[in-house]
Amino acid sequence: MEKSGWWRKVGLLRSFQGADEEDERKPVKPPPKGNKIVVLYYTSSRVIKQTYAECSAVLSILRGHSIFFQERDVFISRKHLEEITDIFGGPISVPRLFVAGKYVGGFQRIIELNEGGELKKLLNGYIKKRPKRVCKGCGNMRYIVCFICNGSKKFYEEERKEMVSCNTCIENGLLPCPVCMLGAVE
Ligand SMILES: [Zn+2]
Ligand SMILES: [Zn+2]
Repeated sequence: MEKSGWWRKVGLLRSFQGADEEDERKPVKPPPKGNKIVVLYYTSSRVIKQTYAECSAVLSILRGHSIFFQERDVFISRKHLEEITDIFGGPISVPRLFVAGKYVGGFQRIIELNEGGELKKLLNGYIKKRPKRVCKGCGNMRYIVCFICNGSKKFYEEERKEMVSCNTCIENGLLPCPVCMLGAVE
């Protein structure tokens, strides 16, 4: 995939430049109010190019997974900077990802997990649900009242000048919704 190629390039660039090993410190406490959500600490500051590139890459990965997650920008918010410092018991680089209060990792770990498919599993419970489309024909009932007999199973036939039974609809005077049948709605 185009995207993952780019992320790999960011990673390659790092190793090529002999970038330092990722800080492997473990958090000493979970992120505040983060027990049930996905939280990413990142920075929107471009001062350190590598950090900015890594944060952008991780943000794009998470957005690509179409999940709900909280973006905690340590550059914009002093509170978030204090939080992440507190969580690790000292200053630490970003990005740092947490899922349901549990620490996932920094940039390299996130890239690894993403390319191995594990990240998708981790984020599975946080996927944004597509809003359900409602069928204009039937309001998603999948059936409409028969328009020949109005659901009564009988209608007046002009030629025969008498009530005849409707054989257009099914037994209870319903018809499968024609809009749904056309596949206009999933
Ligand atoms: Zn009918
Ligand atoms: Zn319908």
